Amino acid sequence: MTRTTQLLIVGAGPAGCLAATTAASVGMTSLLIDPSPVPGGTLWRIGHLANWPGWTDGLSYARTLGQTLAGLDAHCSYLQGTVVRVEPGDNEVRAVLSDGTSVVGELLVAATGVHTAEATEVPWITCAQALPQLTGASPSDLGALTVVLGGDRPLGTWLRTHRDTDQKLTVCHPARDTYKVDEVRADPRVQLHPVRAVRVTGSGPFELDVLLADGSQETVEADSVVTNVGTVPTSLPGLAAGEDGFCPPAIQHPRVLTAGDLCARDGQRVATAVGRGTDAALTLYYRFLRQAV
Ligand SMILES: Cc1cc2nc3c(=O)[nH]c(=O)nc-3n(C[C@H](O)[C@H](O)[C@H](O)COP(=O)(O)OP(=O)(O)OC[C@H]3O[C@@H](n4cnc5c(N)ncnc54)[C@H](O)[C@@H]3O)c2cc1C
Repeated sequence: MTRTTQLLIVGAGPAGCLAATTAASVGMTSLLIDPSPVPGGTLWRIGHLANWPGWTDGLSYARTLGQTLAGLDAHCSYLQGTVVRVEPGDNEVRAVLSDGTSVVGELLVAATGVHTAEATEVPWITCAQALPQLTGASPSDLGALTVVLGGDRPLGTWLRTHRDTDQKLTVCHPARDTYKVDEVRADPRVQLHPVRAVRVTGSGPFELDVLLADGSQETVEADSVVTNVGTVPTSLPGLAAGEDGFCPPAIQHPRVLTAGDLCARDGQRVATAVGRGTDAALTLYYRFLRQAV
């Protein structure tokens, strides 16, 4: 089945949601597509939100966005599905879904964000098996000797979300990511180790061969090992991507714009996603539809 709308929006995080509300505000119809039954994207994972005025957690903001979208009535439809490819053409853009169906719009905003990388995707970690992510772990899931591989931003979020636990975390992170762990340096629950490489063996207890940043080697035993190695862009075939895998709006087909975390490694924030989603919908509107609507 093919459905038609003026604006296809792939991804219902804050960037996609704001593209939809902005489109509605200028009279455009949109179809918002996301694998989740509810909009909000990564907002559902933010237990504590300190930099988006008016909100103290991402979950409440996600609920509000859902209510706002529901209030757009005929201007915005929601389709639960996964887009596997986009096909921009001279007069329309097609989005092909994983079930083989496709939808067609005059324009498309891609706001698929980034996804958490597995330890096995990271060159500085050698590990035979998949390891659990820090983000999904509660303090009761972790052993007394817990090693966190990687010092990415969710570490600070985890510590703030679980501010009442005295769980200790030994964090091994690449030396180049030292600036990322600065925000948790003063937390007495955290021990930071800049490293060059880590090899993980065993399955609880674990043994870790650690090559430290200064060139010395250590073997560390751990009851549990969790990963926190950062994210990679969730690009789609049909989008233009740079060497780093991100998809900046400036290099896309004229009928397509990207928004939110998918655009660039820098500026991955709720406020930025909201701004980029708004800007993408308005830019396409002024580029193609202003005369016609
Ligand atoms: C643990 C954590 C804590 C954070 N804390 C903060 C914070 O305190 N403050 C802050 O400003 N920012 C924070 N961030 C960053 C913030 O969440 C993101 O910058 C923001 O959500 C990006 O919005 P987005 O719409 O670009 O992407 P997302 O919110 O990631 O949404 C992307 C959407 O695209 C969908 N999607 C993916 N692939 C497909 C596909 N193939 N087809 C259809 N849909 C698809 C996904 O299901 C998802 O719903 C945090 C992030 C994490 C992970």
